[in-house]
Parts: sequence; C-alpha cells; structure tokens
Amino acid sequence: MMLVLTMRAAAPERDAGLMSFVGDRLASLQAYREHWSSLAECRSADPELFFPLSSLGPSASQIAEAKSFCSRCVVRRQCLAYAMATRQAHGVWGGMTEQERTAAGQVTRGSAVDQRHPADQPSS
Ligand code: SF4
Repeated sequence: MMLVLTMRAAAPERDAGLMSFVGDRLASLQAYREHWSSLAECRSADPELFFPLSSLGPSASQIAEAKSFCSRCVVRRQCLAYAMATRQAHGVWGGMTEQERTAAGQVTRGSAVDQRHPADQPSS
C-alpha cells in the first residue's frame, strides 16, 4: 500500500519530467532545422521553382534548375533527411523529386541503410 501511494505521488513529477524532456527534444529539433535551413542555397530562389506541377514538359527544366541549386547546397543531406523523415509529398528536396525520394525510400527499406546521400550512391 505504501508503494502504491509513493508511485501515485511521484506520477505528477514524472509526467512533468517527461513533458520537459519532450519539450527540450522538440526545441532541439526545431533549432536544428532552423540552423540548416538558414544555410540553404535556395534561400534566394523563387520557392515555386522547387514545386513543379509535373515532371514533364516545361516542368522538367524547372526541376533541373531546382536541382542545380541543390547540387551547390551545403545542407543537401539534411534537407533530404528532413523531407524523407517528414514524408514531404511534393517538391524537390535535397536534390530529389518526390518520385526519386519514394524510390530511394523503397530501396533503403528493403536493405541495409546506406548513410550516403542517394545521389552519391553508386547506381546498380
Ligand atoms: S538541398 Fe535544395 S531544396 Fe534543400 S535546402 Fe538545399 S537548395 Fe534548398
């Protein structure tokens, strides 16, 4: 009986500790994202460039231009990791279109995780 009372009394402190931990982690994640996105090559670009309507016709050159920004970007890996972790369904992120990210995700799910950026991995 004493143990139960002790555990119940400790629950609010434990919950407060857990909430503090979660809050700290979220703040760290936000700070991390704000840090890498502040270094993005595309900060000076038109955001619409990175969200083509399709992968065909005029959109193909739009994608190529977006990818040229990504190829010079120092946070390309972080950008791609963020897009894949948050399942960004549209746009060019980390130098990859949504179709390319989907294909890369299917490859990494089916085999050992390759830590390299998909663009740096050897083609099979
Ligand atoms: S990788 Fe491309 S989309 Fe991502 S931050 Fe860099 S330039 Fe922007």
